[in-house]
Amino acid sequence: MLVGYCRVSTASGEQLSSLNSQRSRLTRNGCNFILQDIDSGLNCERVNYQQLKALVRSRSVSAILVTSSSRLGRDARECDDFISLCDRFDVSCNALDEGRLSMITAEDMLITRLRGSINQTESMKISQRVKAGYQEGKRQNRPMRRACWGYKLSEDKKLLIPHPYEFNQAKKFIETLKRVHWRPLQALGFWNSNIPLNSDRAVHYWLCNPVLRGGLGYGFHHMSAGSSEYEYIVWGTHTPLLSVADFDMYKKSTAANRKSWGKNSIRKPSVLTSLCICGYCGRKMSYRTGRKIIYCYRFNCGHGFHSVDENLVLSFIQSNILQTIQVWNERWQPSHPYSQISQLKEDIKRLISSDDPDMSSAIQIKRQRLQLLLQVKPSRDDHLLEQLKDSSLYAEEKHYLLRPLLLKLLRAVVIQDRQPIRLELND
Ligand SMILES: [Zn+2]
Repeated sequence: MLVGYCRVSTASGEQLSSLNSQRSRLTRNGCNFILQDIDSGLNCERVNYQQLKALVRSRSVSAILVTSSSRLGRDARECDDFISLCDRFDVSCNALDEGRLSMITAEDMLITRLRGSINQTESMKISQRVKAGYQEGKRQNRPMRRACWGYKLSEDKKLLIPHPYEFNQAKKFIETLKRVHWRPLQALGFWNSNIPLNSDRAVHYWLCNPVLRGGLGYGFHHMSAGSSEYEYIVWGTHTPLLSVADFDMYKKSTAANRKSWGKNSIRKPSVLTSLCICGYCGRKMSYRTGRKIIYCYRFNCGHGFHSVDENLVLSFIQSNILQTIQVWNERWQPSHPYSQISQLKEDIKRLISSDDPDMSSAIQIKRQRLQLLLQVKPSRDDHLLEQLKDSSLYAEEKHYLLRPLLLKLLRAVVIQDRQPIRLELND
């Protein structure tokens, strides 16, 4: 099988179009299966890059195609290792711009090493340039990015000044926001005209930008969805749009809104709501709104947005539940070799047969534990199992009957690589 691999380092518009052109070049050159990462070339733990390596090791790929060797990574040593790996498993690795990548002969090795070093040097230079620009801007208190709505950059690009038309427009928009108690969507409803904000979140980020309060922020970090922080803010560099008091009001009203989330919700849970957990980050997965697919929405989980079909999970449950319960029950069977219960029984028997008076307290303790274990051993409800065997229960119109049974029995269904892989039972 011929596998293509493409990569860009960030999800900005320019880079994404480069990703598309990489993909289409790979497709034109015969790749039907393409793996892609949006991640730094210096990060060797890129998810799909690791998958590519796994494919090579499992000999399920015969050739790999990239547009250039820098797409495989910008860490020279890692690049060496990868190409040696391909050589070892007899996988031919080719770059459209550079030809065959190999380490077999001395010449091949020299050229591959040179390319790897050049790729790494390039990335170091880029990051040095970015860093230098950032330091310089911070030193001179210069605006770093494009001006946000309401402002524009001065001629020499060293200052933010109110935009001749947009400043007043933005001011009026803030007035509208105040009138509707800082509810962005409602305010946007009054503003059908052409303003660059089109969503709740866009308004939120705009309002939280220190530029609106007359400051410049440097070193922006996303903390989690909806919250962010600047490393360093300089105040009083230009005319503010939003007063500090108004900003406080906004913060207070969002906090209040957050507290009331879900209180008026009338949405009914779907059959698998809160039952699926992500096999990578271990957190609960959600339904895509209005659809029958489930996904991990954590933006910092590398497997976010790899969704799984509800039907796939249900049929997995249907075909595995009886077996899982059997294994579970066996674990609790006194005859099961690994059972704690049988272990304790063995121990007690051995201690008694040793006939050592010093051991009597140990025997006593073990007996108590055994007693406790026998008490807590839950029993699986046979009636419940009979019901779950009934395949008509898995049909969509019976989901309201299935859900309570599943909640009773299952703690979670673990999802990995768009597949359910394991059922975990409630203790
Ligand atoms: Zn996850």
